[in-house]
Amino acid sequence: MSEITVNPIGVVRSSVKQRSDMPTLGVPALIEVFDAYTAGLRHLEKHSHLWVLAWLHEAGRDKLLVTPRGVRDQGEAGLHGVFAVRSPTRPNPIGLSAVRIVAIEGNRIRVDRLDFVDGTPVIDMKPYFRRFDAIAAVRNEPIGRPASRDAALAALLIEAENFHGERCGGLALAARIVEHARSVLFDYRDPPGLKVIAPQARGCLIDTLMALFNVGFGRGTFGLHDRDAVILAHGLRRYVYTLVIPPSRSFEDVLAAAESSVFQFHSFDESHSGGERDPRPLRSAHE
Ligand SMILES: [Zn+2]
Repeated sequence: MSEITVNPIGVVRSSVKQRSDMPTLGVPALIEVFDAYTAGLRHLEKHSHLWVLAWLHEAGRDKLLVTPRGVRDQGEAGLHGVFAVRSPTRPNPIGLSAVRIVAIEGNRIRVDRLDFVDGTPVIDMKPYFRRFDAIAAVRNEPIGRPASRDAALAALLIEAENFHGERCGGLALAARIVEHARSVLFDYRDPPGLKVIAPQARGCLIDTLMALFNVGFGRGTFGLHDRDAVILAHGLRRYVYTLVIPPSRSFEDVLAAAESSVFQFHSFDESHSGGERDPRPLRSAHE
């Protein structure tokens, strides 16, 4: 089997015409399915999300090693195999994107964001299944660094919404805390053994922190307390986010607020903590 023939089943309609203009996280777009294939859309409304496979017709096909976006080392050390990254450059330039369906209008599917440029041939679509496709315990070491703190926050907001299902103040608060910790404290790589303790009264914050830091009660990496603060514990080090913003604030309010109106941050070593109010800040739910 030396050659495989693939026929496009549709085409991407996007406001972005050039790859260089495409934001990493994509933009709202339309998938136009060709007439010959529209019968294949029957009962697609049973699903909220979709895998879209596209033929990245402008991509190079001649490389097996690339320097991914966000990797600073442009030499040998920065090179990654194409099967270890999601670069469009690969022997068969098939793009894969999970999208939320906004509306199905006849043969046109409106999606929330897609990173394929206008005119990209679509070669297949399949429903995204929570049961088969979502692996919450997945391990991904970061490949590069985000282009900016704003870009890091934007990516966290999407990741959080994919888990939590609504854009609320608690979600925005969690994203701001995680973004601060990764950018300012952890150089975009969560330290191994990181534990998180959250205020028990803030349910949306709890949900989102567990998702973004990938921590849980069962593994002893997550706990609750009755203080209005988020504590990150790594070894003896304690990073404390005392929450200033009231729980009633909206998604937009939390994102627009200055950092000092969202939380007050300080850190200390547990062994020298003398005056800390809570002598056991890491008490977890299953102790
Ligand atoms: Zn919520």
